[in-house]
Amino acid sequence: MEPLPTPVRKQPDAEWPSNLASHRTFGALWQPVPLRHFVVKVHSRCNLSCDYCYLYEMADQSWRDASKAMAPAVADRTAVRIAEHAREHRLDAVTVIVHGGEPMLAGMALITRLAEAVRREVPEYTRVSLAIQTNGLLLDDASLDALYALGISVGVSIDGGEAANDRHRRFADGRGSHARVAAAIERLRDPSRPGLYGGLLCTIDVENDPVEVYEALLSHAPPAMDFLLPHGSWDTPPPTREAGAPETPYGDWLAAAFDRWYGVERAETSVRLFEDTLALLLGGPSSSEQLGPGPATVVVVDTDGMIEQVDTLKSTYDGAAVTGMSVHTHTFDDALRHPSLAARQLGVAGLGATCRACRVRDVCGGGYFTHRYRAGAGFGGPSVYCPDLIRFIEHVRGRVAADLGNTHDLEGVGWVRR
Ligand code: SF4
Repeated sequence: MEPLPTPVRKQPDAEWPSNLASHRTFGALWQPVPLRHFVVKVHSRCNLSCDYCYLYEMADQSWRDASKAMAPAVADRTAVRIAEHAREHRLDAVTVIVHGGEPMLAGMALITRLAEAVRREVPEYTRVSLAIQTNGLLLDDASLDALYALGISVGVSIDGGEAANDRHRRFADGRGSHARVAAAIERLRDPSRPGLYGGLLCTIDVENDPVEVYEALLSHAPPAMDFLLPHGSWDTPPPTREAGAPETPYGDWLAAAFDRWYGVERAETSVRLFEDTLALLLGGPSSSEQLGPGPATVVVVDTDGMIEQVDTLKSTYDGAAVTGMSVHTHTFDDALRHPSLAARQLGVAGLGATCRACRVRDVCGGGYFTHRYRAGAGFGGPSVYCPDLIRFIEHVRGRVAADLGNTHDLEGVGWVRR
């Protein structure tokens, strides 16, 4: 096996997974899995100032030096690299997520160029799904028409009703954003553009009532939604969570929201985190990195063409997402060999001893990689959300077992398979 590229990063060599290459079983454990999800950051700034934003408000401040907007040549090069990876691995499908900052600040000309370049460059057997994740503020009818024509589905970030959303998602002058975002979602729902509305993304604040939040989101008739845990680590715990404390505010919140979602006769919408939990409990795969042992198949391209790991790592320490590679000089196969990306493809073998011995290991998978960070140990330990994850997973398992009516037969379902 070729040596791993030397990472440009500030993580100490002794921390997992910086020390991955020296792990005596690494060569036997690691089989690279092709990347399938490409998050392309077309603009590095935002027209909101949400106080929980991992890009601007947490440890890594590299956005200050990043190119504001992606140059057209970088978009073209990114498309060529995605196509190269698709060809190399004969991928039948890839997903390109147009992201930021606020991606709509880049303008439709650049977004159009990227979308057309990806579709032009990939081999004919590779299906391309395009999506954009936006705060919604710049979604007018002209841009929605353009996104619809390009086949780009639109996901909007919103945290519930007005009070819940405006707790954090505010303009720099302190004004709340809910009214303008809700109006944008109304435009997005226009039936003249079928399939354009991708869904809603909500970051949890346990001060907000979970059922009220769910129902406020549901009032926008989303085809799908997802709940995100706010980013944090053992060194900088999320709001209201004391690292290592047994209380489970996030597990309780998710359990209440799950009960509201699950306890209806006819499904009202898809909630990714809940559906992933059910799938994992029944032995299936997860569709995101929030839960499950992986493998991770997501990579990020920044506005200047630098290839990064998941950018939520920027919430842990300065430089955590850096690979030192660029679409100008490296392939995505090169990025796959970066220790952190490789570690996220090791499955259970990439977890620390606590997680490997945990009864909900095969559902939880150690939680989200970013949430495991602890200075000195790296990403090898359990999630800072560990008690919350156990609480939530056991709650969902209890509901499923009760519904299936024979808990005896469910012994082992969603539990560690040995
Ligand atoms: S619940 Fe905790 S110990 Fe168990 S796998 Fe998840 S993070 Fe690890």
